[in-house]
Amino acid sequence: MEEIALTSARLHRFSPTWRLKALLPIAGTLFAGLLLFAIVTLQNPQRHWILFVAAAGAIAICAVLLVVLAVLIQKPLLELNEKIDRLRAGDLHVAVGFARREDEIGELGRHFNEMVEQLRTTREEVERLHRTQMTRAEHLATLGELAAGLAHEIRNPLAGIAGVVEMIGRDLPANSPSREIVKEAQSEVRHIQNLLSDLLQYARPRPPQILAADLNETAEHAVTLARRQLSNRPIELAFAPDPQLPTVEHDPAQMQQVLVNLLLNAIQAIEGAGRVQVVISHQENYAVVRVADTGHGISPKNLPKIFRPFFTTKGQGTGLGLSLARNIVEEHGGRIEVTSTADLGTEFTLRFPLRNHARTGMKRASEVVE
Ligand code: ADP
Repeated sequence: MEEIALTSARLHRFSPTWRLKALLPIAGTLFAGLLLFAIVTLQNPQRHWILFVAAAGAIAICAVLLVVLAVLIQKPLLELNEKIDRLRAGDLHVAVGFARREDEIGELGRHFNEMVEQLRTTREEVERLHRTQMTRAEHLATLGELAAGLAHEIRNPLAGIAGVVEMIGRDLPANSPSREIVKEAQSEVRHIQNLLSDLLQYARPRPPQILAADLNETAEHAVTLARRQLSNRPIELAFAPDPQLPTVEHDPAQMQQVLVNLLLNAIQAIEGAGRVQVVISHQENYAVVRVADTGHGISPKNLPKIFRPFFTTKGQGTGLGLSLARNIVEEHGGRIEVTSTADLGTEFTLRFPLRNHARTGMKRASEVVE
């Protein structure tokens, strides 16, 4: 559209001169010839009338040319100009009439009409997609609300069931074979509880409480929490803070949740011995957090799916960890990227601005009472 507007503006700017430009060489040649003829005939007064006839002829030729130019070129140009203005105003049903002509001007008109037709089809397609997306978004929002409501209702009875199962477990004799079944039931209940809290968080995310805080510290807390899950497994969990890092505006609780999630995924991806590394750095206005592991990696088939809600390859997984992580990072104005090589490992990179423009409820870390 901008291109069209520019063309239209240029046409307006140059319209008085193009006719002059087209006519000048012809008129120049005619009058130069006339001048030569005048020099030759001026010595012979009987032939002066020929000079007058030739001059009148030259003027007539120029006048005819002007009319021809106006009809053949200026008229279509004016029509094109008017149609471009209508196009700019949003009317995508315009077409130029001179497209029927069998010359270059007609070809220009046909190209113009085709271009308008393409614009119209594209706009209709965009509008159709927009409508579908809106309906889908509304549908998903309703489903999300339903799921959240249901999750909320299930949580309390589930807590009751968990309590009863625990009491049964406690009352069983130490050598009872039913102890295994109770353990199994407890693990399943925990799985459902995790799923419910992830689902609730996903369906009703809370906006981040942005603070000017120490991202090194946030990451260190996450690493400490993840270390507790290692329980003597031969996995090295290395942490490299950035000593030069300025304060980073972020929600420490949410960012810690993201990092714990990435770290637990990394630990779970390692069978036997391995290494997980968390590296903090910064570039210009961005903080960068890398979480790399030497686990089994993600297959190219699964890689595009891992951020989708409920996508999981784990028996006890909820498939919501990475979708939540991505939502949180995006709420911080950042991005999360992943690279992975099957059997070699995976690396997640988080990038978000040092200064957060959303600044939802921004406070200094020292003002926050835990
Ligand atoms: P969950 O952990 O409950 O499965 P996530 O959304 O956290 O849900 O992860 C989705 C899937 O992404 C996991 O099931 C796993 O297949 C894959 N994945 C995530 N992180 C890693 C990793 N570091 N190494 C290998 N696979 C991973």
